[in-house]
Amino acid sequence: AKMKGEENLGAVVAHVLAFPCPAQGHVNSMLKVAQLLALHDVRVTFVNTDYVHNRLVRFGDIDTLLASYPTLQFKTISDCFTEEDHPGIGDRVGDVINSINLHAKPLLRDILLTQKVTCLIADGVFGSLTNILARQLGITIIHFRAVSACSIWSYLCSPKLLECNELPIRGDEDMDRIICNTPGMENLLRCRDLPSMFRPNRKGHLMSIDSVVFQTQQSLQADAFILNTFEDLEIPVLSQMRLHFPKLFTIGPLHHHLNLRKSEANKASLPNDTNSLKGNLFPVDRSCMVWLDDQPERSVIYVSFGSVALITREELLEIWYGLVNSKKRFLWVMRPHMITGKVGEDQIPVELEEGTKDRGFMAEWTPQDEVLRHKAIGGFLTHSGWNSTLESIEAGVPMICWPYFADQQINSRFVSEVWKLGLDMKDVCDRNIVENIVNDLMVHRQEEFLKSAQKMATLAHKSVIEGGSSYCNLDDLIHYIKSTTL
Ligand code: UDP
Repeated sequence: AKMKGEENLGAVVAHVLAFPCPAQGHVNSMLKVAQLLALHDVRVTFVNTDYVHNRLVRFGDIDTLLASYPTLQFKTISDCFTEEDHPGIGDRVGDVINSINLHAKPLLRDILLTQKVTCLIADGVFGSLTNILARQLGITIIHFRAVSACSIWSYLCSPKLLECNELPIRGDEDMDRIICNTPGMENLLRCRDLPSMFRPNRKGHLMSIDSVVFQTQQSLQADAFILNTFEDLEIPVLSQMRLHFPKLFTIGPLHHHLNLRKSEANKASLPNDTNSLKGNLFPVDRSCMVWLDDQPERSVIYVSFGSVALITREELLEIWYGLVNSKKRFLWVMRPHMITGKVGEDQIPVELEEGTKDRGFMAEWTPQDEVLRHKAIGGFLTHSGWNSTLESIEAGVPMICWPYFADQQINSRFVSEVWKLGLDMKDVCDRNIVENIVNDLMVHRQEEFLKSAQKMATLAHKSVIEGGSSYCNLDDLIHYIKSTTL
């Protein structure tokens, strides 16, 4: 028998299992999707690998998260690596993805069944596995990708590019050739601007291009697709994608959207700034905020290459010299273990030490979205990870892009050539170039870049307020999810 009031409680039946790709930028964005759903009374079971979950427990205040969202719970599964030989959450994440695709099916199936899940929201890198599971169990399957629409679209264009001989890339001397058969982004991309998996000599242990393209194509068979982007940012590409994805929900920028929805829901009990709510997998050092408070407005360039990118000793020194010689102030995130080829204290040239003492601040991990919104920040030297790009856009901060791998190569092309939000320094690392480009961004062309960054920030904000495209899409998505049953 129905309980009193149950007819209004369609939400109670719907139960989402959220399964992110086990890396920083993916877990924190999926966690935001989960929070947006939980804010609207959807039950969410968030499934992490043990490895990721341990870090989330260590570096985030997970109890606050659970206390804030009564309909949210966590479960964990093994990724089939032992503690000793674990590839971590760095640039070998491709190995973890492969392992999950091979081994995780029975583990996920067990949770889906015992929790009576009605809707699976999985990272699209697990496309094939999760489609099969959902079909077998008769539940709704939605794919989520934490990367740009333009990168996804480039993967989907790949068969056509192969067919008309625009791919594969033929080697280093082929890198400046322009790619044509990419509707929505014609004549924009050079070979070097395609996601790095397309390169013959690719960095890091990423998934192979064949397997990225294969998994991305699986999203065409999912019931719906969620992207962390907004219409005004990527409309030409999104229009092309919609020809293939009838239910494509753009609900970003997620971090800003979540903050607004929280205040709208008027949940005073929801703290804004705890680590767990941001999904940090590294210990946050807030001392840089105090340093920033003492710096003049728009005077500091923030330097961060995200959670995965590695940097060689030579590259480190070139960038460091460039920054010091530019005479600009800088705040630099240097993750422990990010440098390959150790730099001992004694090997740091004295002029770098001096220049850093005068104008620089080094941090191991910052509260990045707060840093970017700080009034002292005037630019961002970034690896062009998608979360960093969106955070910079939302904060109206112009960028210098130095992409490391994956979608970063195409994101940086859009930043510089389509959105005109900064300068692209891809495939180059030279102290004179760094010095000049920093001065271009922070001095000579500052006004121009700040103006376009402000404009784009306004569009980002508009998309997530009531009536905006991301706002409406999220409402539609919630409505859709609430209609799912077993
Ligand atoms: N981040 C942070 N503190 C730092 C550096 C990065 O909180 O010192 C966050 C950043 O705000 C972003 C995420 O880590 O949300 C990195 O994701 P992104 O997609 O930019 O790059 P990835 O780490 O996946 O390469």
